[in-house]
This record gives sequence, C-alpha cells and structure tokens, in this order.
Amino acid sequence: MGGAAAHASVAAVAVRPGVPDSLHRTTLSLQEPGSDEVLVETIRVGVCGTDREIMRGEFGTPPTGSAALVLGHEVLGRIVATGAEVQGLRPGALVSATVRRPDGCPACQAGQPDMCLWREYTERGIAGAHGFMVERFVEQERFLVPIPAEIEAIGVLTEPLTVVEKAVRQADLIQRRLAYGWAPRTAVVLGAGPIGLLGTMLLRSRGVEVVTVARTPAPNRAADLVAACGARYVSSREQSVFELGASSDRIDLILESTGASIAAFEAMQILGTNGVLVLLSLTGGDHTADVPTDRINRELVAGNKTVVGSVNAGFIDFATAVDTLGRFERLWPGLTARLITTRISITDDIAPIVAKSGDEVKMVIEFDR
Ligand SMILES: [Zn+2]
Repeated sequence: MGGAAAHASVAAVAVRPGVPDSLHRTTLSLQEPGSDEVLVETIRVGVCGTDREIMRGEFGTPPTGSAALVLGHEVLGRIVATGAEVQGLRPGALVSATVRRPDGCPACQAGQPDMCLWREYTERGIAGAHGFMVERFVEQERFLVPIPAEIEAIGVLTEPLTVVEKAVRQADLIQRRLAYGWAPRTAVVLGAGPIGLLGTMLLRSRGVEVVTVARTPAPNRAADLVAACGARYVSSREQSVFELGASSDRIDLILESTGASIAAFEAMQILGTNGVLVLLSLTGGDHTADVPTDRINRELVAGNKTVVGSVNAGFIDFATAVDTLGRFERLWPGLTARLITTRISITDDIAPIVAKSGDEVKMVIEFDR
C-alpha cells in the first residue's frame, strides 16, 4: 500500500454551506483505500462559478454528519496506491474524477447518473460529498478517469470540457431525427467563461463556424482565445444577440453558458430552422422578464426547433473529453493551457484571492509539495 498510513490527516479547503465567506482550512482523516478504491494525491484543482456560488453561501450541502463541505470538483491527481481488486489503474498514473455519485434511480442504475431521475445523487465538492480541494483523497476506481501524461498541463480542464462534450452529444442525439443528416455549419456560443471557451474550441475542432458572444468588448483574454481557434468574438454591448441573429446564416446550434436566464429566451429567438439550443446555465436567482411568448412559441413549432437543458456529464463524456484535449493540442499547440490564467498555491491565503473575480478565465489551485 505504499506510504498510505491509516487514518492519516490531510489538509483541505472547505466552506460551511449556506454561510457566506466561510472558506477555511481544515483537516480530514484519510482512510486507506478499500479493495476497489484508489488513493490519489491532488496535483491541482480548478475553481468554477459553482464553487464561487457555494462560497457566497448560495449553494452546496455538506456530507451527512458534517458542518463543512470540502470544495472542488475539477481535479487532476496522481495515483499513490490502489486496492487489491483495482485492475485498470497503477500508482504513478494521472487521473481526473467524475463529480456525481449515483442514487438508486433507473437512470443511475443504467449507468447515467448525469440523467438522474430522483435527483438524490451526491456530487463531490457540491452536494453531500466532500470535494477534491484536499491533499489526498480516496475514490472508487469506477469514478476515476485516466489522464495521459501528454496532457498533464491541461488535464485539470477535463471536467469543465465534459459539460460541453455532453451538450454537443445531446445535440447529436437529438438531430438523429433529421433524415438529411446533421452537420452543424454555424453555431453561436453565448458566454465566454471556461465553458463557453471550451465549447467554442470543441465546435471549432469539428469544423463548425462559431460566433462567441460575451459582454466585455475586445480586446480581452477571452476574445484572444476565441480568435486563436478561428472563431469570431462579438461583444453584446456592441452588437445585440438579435442583430447577430439577423446578420447570420441559419444558426444550427446554440450553446448557452452566460449564467443569465434571459439569454436563453433571446437565444430561442435567433435559433435557425431544425436547430438545437442547449441550455447550460444553472441560474440561481429569481429573475422574471417579459418575453414575446407567441413569437417564441410559433417559431419553435414552425421551425421544428429544440431547446434542451443539459447538466453534469456522463462517463462517456469524460472519455471523449480526454481525447478532445489531445486533439486541441494537435490543432492549436499551447492554446488550451492559456485558459488557465490564474494559479494560486494551496499555501497562499486563498480566500481573498478566490473571492475577487478579475479578468481571469480559469483559476486553479496548485497543491505544491
Ligand atoms: Zn439517480
């Protein structure tokens, strides 16, 4: 079992869910891995919008019996030790991990916890289970995803990429309804955070013409990344979504990742005939708005348009995302790593750094040792 001492104490970063600005350091007691489990040493963990919502006290639930929740669901780690029955993973190998842990519903039993029916799942670092902002963690082999050494520098982006892998897979599955074949020519990505940028790159890597829309006018880091993969960046302050729709060819696919629900209803109004709009923003607020319901409804019906929500990702999306990161490197060497714009060390005073949101795209916490 290597150096895996029983009941070792490991440093972690946690919040008290529901309590704003409660980010704090804590220690967890670490068990030795069971026979089907793996002990993983954390290399780095990504910080995303969900983590920030949890830090603001708007979201998140601790594990049963705990007041604190260890954060982090975007992880890259290295295997330290494996249980006796672990077949496919070896010490020294790099891994990421899926986020959601199944309940007993039919979807989970069928191997699709991302389509969970009962919604009694847990999610590591989010809902009812500790996350990966911890020096070492134990996980079942079946929830770990091998990461090739060649993509170590960008492997921490696997989980956010799975969100758009699933989104595009949903679109592909839905569009099997089209006898003439589905090959999206023009796509719009709303939002240029990590999800929007990874979605832009994913669609560009498939040869789709992409327009990526975000508020901030260029030049900025996101606009540079969009241009570097051959997509077009539009600031919604300079051109409205409606103006974009009116001046575009038929928009076959829209990914919505702005975090603002009104964008979903604007997107419905520019989606092309037979198109698919995939909604990815878990909007936590309570906003209401006047929207042209007759026009939206009429156009959805008359144009056979599909609007679909998509959350989390399936095991298949993790496998695909790993391949896609390799493809990104071949297409645009070094570009994907530029999404990681902020690196902080686990030894820093991270709360104030994480709380303030600047021009960064993806912040990661490095577990230096
Ligand atoms: Zn379920």
